Amino acid sequence: MKKILVTGGAGFLGSHLCEKLLNEGNEVFCLDNYFTGQKRNVIHLLKNPYFEIIRHDITMPFFIEVDEIYNLACPASPIHYQYNPIKTVKTSVMGAINMLGLAKRTKARILQASTSEVYGDPQVHPQTENYWGHVNPIGPRACYDEGKRSAETLFVNYYKQNNVKIKIMRIFNTYGPRMHPNDGRVVSNFIVQALSGKDITVYGDGSQTRSFCYVDDLIEGMTCFMNSRLDFIGPVNIGNPNEFTIKELAEMVIKLTNSKSKIIYHPLPADDPMQRKPNIELARKELGWEPKIKLREGLIHTINYFKNSL
Ligand code: NAD
Ligand code: UDP
Repeated sequence: MKKILVTGGAGFLGSHLCEKLLNEGNEVFCLDNYFTGQKRNVIHLLKNPYFEIIRHDITMPFFIEVDEIYNLACPASPIHYQYNPIKTVKTSVMGAINMLGLAKRTKARILQASTSEVYGDPQVHPQTENYWGHVNPIGPRACYDEGKRSAETLFVNYYKQNNVKIKIMRIFNTYGPRMHPNDGRVVSNFIVQALSGKDITVYGDGSQTRSFCYVDDLIEGMTCFMNSRLDFIGPVNIGNPNEFTIKELAEMVIKLTNSKSKIIYHPLPADDPMQRKPNIELARKELGWEPKIKLREGLIHTINYFKNSL
C-alpha cells in the first residue's frame, strides 16, 4: 500500500484520480482549498478508512510522509483562473515549490499536472513536446500559461539539482462527469445549455479547434506515467488527438441531447488559441498509452451525468 498525496483532489480530475488510487489499494490524502472543487466530488470516498480530505492551500507549506505526490491543485477554467490572476500564479509557482520541497524531503515521486496551454496559441500543429510555444506573457491567459511554464522550470531544476523524481504531464482538454456545471469550460457549458433549453454560446465563429479527451482515458494515462520506471524523459503530452471545431462540438451536443437550443455567437476572448491537437507519439512509445474513448461515447456519459445532477 502506497501513501499518496493528491493536491486539488476535490476537483474534476483530482476526484477521479483519488477514486482510482483507492480502488488500487492505496492510502490517499486529498488536499484542497475548495476554490473550484467540491466536497460532493469525493464524499462517496469518505467511507473508505484509507481516504482523508484536508482543507489546505498549497501556497502554504504542507508536511506529511508520502511515497507519491500528484500536484493537480490549480483552477483550470479560464473564467476561474482569471478571477484572481495573482493567486493563480501563486498557486502554480509557490504550490510547485512547496510540493517539490515535500518531494525532496520525503523522496516521493511527484507528477505535475501541466497543460497544453504551455504551447499558447500554437504555430506548430499538432503540438509535439519539443515545441517551445507561443504565449503572450502579459495577456489575460498568462497567469495560467506562464504559471504552469514556471512550474515546469521548477520541476526540471529540482530534478537536475536535487535528483527529485519528477514527471511533467501536459494535459490537453479533458471532459467528463464531475465537471462543475458553472465551470465555464466548453463541454460543460454546451451540455448544461442544451439540457436546459438555453442558447448554445459559441465564442468567435466556432472554427477554432480543440481535441477532447475523456476523463477515464486521461486518468489512466496519469497513473501509467507515474508508475513508469523511466528516468526523466521530459514533459509528455496526454490527450486525445481527434480534433474538432467548436461549432462541430456544439452541433454534436445538440444532436445527442435532442435539444431545441439554437447556436448563438459571442466575441472570441482575447488570446483564445485557434487550434490545438496533441502529438501523442511519445506517450504511445514510452508509456504504451493511448486514449480509447471516442468523443461521441464520452459525451453520452457526460450528458447522462448532467441529466442526473442538474
Ligand atoms: P478543477 O478546477 O476542477 O480542479 C482544481 C482543484 O484544485 C480544485 O478542487 C480547486 O479547489 C483546487 N485548488 C485550486 N487552487 C488551490 C490551492 N491554492 N490550494 C489547494 N487547492 C487548490 O480543475 P481540473 O480540470 O480538475 O484540473 C486539475 C489540474 O489539471 C489543474 O492543475 C489543471 O491546470 C490541469 N489541467 C486540466 C485540464 C482539463 O482539461 N481538465 C487541462 C490541462 C491541465
Ligand atoms: N468556448 C465557447 N463557448 C463557451 C465556452 C468556451 O465557444 O461557452 C470556446 C472557447 O472560446 C475556446 C474553446 O471553446 O475556443 C475551449 O474553451 P475552454 O474554456 O473549454 O478551454 P481552453 O480555451 O482553455 O482550451
